[in-house]
Amino acid sequence: MNRYDYIIIGSGIAGLYMALLAREQGSVLVITKGSIEDCNTRHAQGGIAAAIGRDDSPDLHFKDTIEAGDGLCDEAAVRILVDEAPARIAELVNLGVPFDTLNGRIALTLEAAHSVPRILHAGGDATGEHIEVTLSRRVRAARIPVLEDSQATEILVEKNTVKGIKVLDCHTGSMETFECRNLILATGGAGQLFKFNTNSDIATGDGIALAFKVGAEIIDMEFFQFHPTALHLPGVTPFLISEAVRGEGGILRNAEGHPFMPEYAPQGDLAPRDVAARSILYEMKKTGSDRVFLDVAHLSPYVITTRFPHIYRFCLDHGLDITKEPVPVAPAAHYMMGGIKTNSWGETNVSGLFATGETACTGVHGANRLASNSMMEVVVFSKRIMERTARGAETGSSAASKRQEVKGKLSERRVAGSSPAPSFTSLQQLAWNNLGVIRGRDGLSRAADALAMWQHSLPSPTDRPSHELNNLVLTGRLIAEAALQREESRGAHFRSDFPEKSTEWQRHIVFTA
Ligand SMILES: Cc1cc2nc3c(=O)[nH]c(=O)nc-3n(C[C@H](O)[C@H](O)[C@H](O)COP(=O)(O)OP(=O)(O)OC[C@H]3O[C@@H](n4cnc5c(N)ncnc54)[C@H](O)[C@@H]3O)c2cc1C
Repeated sequence: MNRYDYIIIGSGIAGLYMALLAREQGSVLVITKGSIEDCNTRHAQGGIAAAIGRDDSPDLHFKDTIEAGDGLCDEAAVRILVDEAPARIAELVNLGVPFDTLNGRIALTLEAAHSVPRILHAGGDATGEHIEVTLSRRVRAARIPVLEDSQATEILVEKNTVKGIKVLDCHTGSMETFECRNLILATGGAGQLFKFNTNSDIATGDGIALAFKVGAEIIDMEFFQFHPTALHLPGVTPFLISEAVRGEGGILRNAEGHPFMPEYAPQGDLAPRDVAARSILYEMKKTGSDRVFLDVAHLSPYVITTRFPHIYRFCLDHGLDITKEPVPVAPAAHYMMGGIKTNSWGETNVSGLFATGETACTGVHGANRLASNSMMEVVVFSKRIMERTARGAETGSSAASKRQEVKGKLSERRVAGSSPAPSFTSLQQLAWNNLGVIRGRDGLSRAADALAMWQHSLPSPTDRPSHELNNLVLTGRLIAEAALQREESRGAHFRSDFPEKSTEWQRHIVFTA
C-alpha cells in the first residue's frame, strides 16, 4: 500500500513522537534518510525545559522565553508552550523516558537565561539519546513502518493541497512515490551549512527547501543560534560542551587565563548564548587565539563525572581530563530559529502540509532560543498537530498569525556567466565567513551573490549528497538575503554595521517562492 493517512519525514524527537500520536488516528509511515537514530536529537545534552519546579511557574518560563526572544516571540505560541509543557513531560515519563531524579523527585538544573532551575535531564548529559532510544523502541514495538535510508526529495502538490511525496532510495538510487492525506515535515535543522557546527550530518535544511519549492512560507531565517562553547581541539569535529556546564559553575577564561564574561554581561558566565558567543570571539581576537577555555577544574570530580559523564568521557577519549584541565572551546553553529512558518496547530499555508521540530517556526523562539526550549516545543506542537488533524478541522486555511511581517526578496543578483559548482567545503567556509556570529553588508552581499550563482550552476541532484548540497545552497540563500535585509542587531542576528536594535525592525521577514 502506498497511501497513508500520515506520512512523517524524519525520525528525531519530532518524527517519532508524531508517529506515536498519529497511529491512534490512522495509517502512518515514517520516512528517514539515514538510520532511525541519525538525527540531532540524539546529541542533545542539556535537557528539556518545563516549569515543574517548586519555585517555578509557567509565567516565569514565559517571561524568560520572551526576554531571550528579544522582541520577536509570538506571545500566543509561547503561552501555549509554557502552559502545555508540564503535561507533555508527564507523557514522556509515561512513555518511559528515564529523567534523572534527586531525593525521589525529577532533578532540575539551571541553564543560561533561565531564572530558576527548570531543565530536566536524563543520563546526566545524555538527555537526547535517552529520548531518542525510548521513542524509537516504542515506534518499533508499535510496529509503525519506518523506511530508512530513504530521502524525501519532492512534495507533490495540486491546487495548493498536498498529494504525496517523492522518495529516493539512498542505496539503489530509485525513486518511489507515496500518497498521503497529511504530510508532516520533521526534518530538523541546517547546521551543516557552517564550517564549525554542533549538528549531525543530516542537518542540511531539506525540509526548508522542500517546503519552499511548493509555496510554503519560510520565516525568520536570519536568526541562527551559535553555541558559544563547542570543544575546539585540532582534528576533532566540534562537540558541544553543554550550557549546563556553566550552569553548574564553569568559568570562561581567555587564552591568558582571564575570566572575561563579567566585563560583557551582568549575568557573567550565564549570559545568553548570543552575548557569550560574541564576547568569546572578541576575546579570541584580542588575544590572537582561535579559542578560549571553559574552566571546571574547581568543581569536584564527582560532580563533573556524574553530571557530565558524556562530555567527560568524550574529552578523555581525546586526551583531555577536564577534572584537571580547562576545556578549549569556540563558538559553532547550533540551532535554526527560523523555518517553515506554522500557526499554533503546526499548519503551513499549504493544505495538508504540517511542520514540527527544528524545521518549523512556530514563533516560540523569536530572535533567540532559550536553552532547552526546542525539544519541549517539539512535543507541545506535535501534539497540537495531532489534535488538529484528529478533529478533522479544516487544514486548508492559511496559517493565521498575528506576527508583523515583511516580504523577503530572493533577488536574481549577478547570476550571469557561470561559476564552478560548490563543494560542501567551499559552501561551509563561505557561510562561516559571511553568515556567522558577526555579519556585515559586504560579506552578506558577497555570500548572497555566490549562493545565487551556485544555485544556478548546480547540476540536477541524483543522490543524497547532491540533494543535500542543493538544499543547503537554497537554505543559505534564504539566510543571506534575510540577514542582508534586516539592518539592525537583534537576538542571534548581529550586524557590525547596524549594531543597535531598531523598533522599525520589530517584524519578521517571510519568503515565498
Ligand atoms: C549537540 C546538540 C545539543 C542540543 N542540546 C539540546 C538540549 O539540551 N535541549 C534542547 O531542547 N535542544 C537541544 N538541541 C536542539 C535539539 O536537539 C533539536 O532542535 C531537536 O532535537 C530537533 O529535533 P527534530 O526531530 O526536529 O530534528 P532531528 O532530531 O535533527 O531529526 C531530523 C530527522 O529528519 C531526517 N531527515 C532530514 N531530511 C530528510 C529528508 N529529506 N528525507 C528523509 N528524512 C530526512 C533526519 O535523518 C532525521 O531523522 C541540541 C542540538 C544539538 C545539535
